[in-house]
Amino acid sequence: MDTKIAVVTGANRGLGFAISRLLAMEGIKVVLTSRDGAKGQAATEKLQAQGLDVVWHQLSVTDSDSIQQLADFIEQQFGKLDILINNAGINPESSGSSALEIQLETLQTTMKTNVYGPLLLSQALVPLMKIHNYGRIVNLSAGMGLFKEMEAGFPAYCLSKAALNALTIILAAELQETGIKVNAASPGWAKTDMGGSDAPKTAEEGADTIVWLATCLHDIPNGGFWRDRQLIPW
Ligand code: NDP
Repeated sequence: MDTKIAVVTGANRGLGFAISRLLAMEGIKVVLTSRDGAKGQAATEKLQAQGLDVVWHQLSVTDSDSIQQLADFIEQQFGKLDILINNAGINPESSGSSALEIQLETLQTTMKTNVYGPLLLSQALVPLMKIHNYGRIVNLSAGMGLFKEMEAGFPAYCLSKAALNALTIILAAELQETGIKVNAASPGWAKTDMGGSDAPKTAEEGADTIVWLATCLHDIPNGGFWRDRQLIPW
């Protein structure tokens, strides 16, 4: 049987770790990536101890050399890729943060991680999906990136997720004649370092829609925004 290969970014903790676990439980070989070696290897060993097929590879989504090294590794080891989960993300602002006062550096770092990272990873890894005309890309977005739900506060994060949503639509349109589907999904408010302990969902509950989109074998819609397995208007 053809084993599916998945890459998950920022997978040493939080939603990325939960997504990696659930994908591996579906029989998918997961390349768990993290920018920090020790943290990523510890997370990988935890999943391997559960009998899951997971390997670690270094990846900083803001470093083009690191992205290219990951792409070379996937090509040499597996010759193809099936699933890319663009999960790594940051939200460096506080709730009272104002667009009128935001520091350019905060905005640039947030865009570099949350938007340019997924774009550069898509550029590096889509060729490994095109090889076999199959792929699922899921971009971890948020309600805060939807025009219908956007409010004041967290301007850099909101701008970055709105841009990630736009990137999702653009890539989906570019790839629509292929077997590669690109979607954005919100995990909902989930208990992680970013989500905090008051969040109603566990990380695994938050991971559900993402894993569902990544493993849908039938002809799922392309270029949508999903939450709780439902298509949500932008
Ligand atoms: P966490 O803060 O718990 O984890 C973020 C992960 O991203 C960490 O593994 C972190 O690595 C990694 N990361 C950050 N920057 C980089 C980088 N430059 N290169 C590689 N990895 C990086 O966040 P969550 O798990 O909560 O969030 C995951 C995704 O889900 C994010 O995109 C977030 O915006 C989105 N999301 C989360 C929600 C929630 O309620 N939790 C709600 C809506 C969306 P390190 O450990 O090294 O810092």
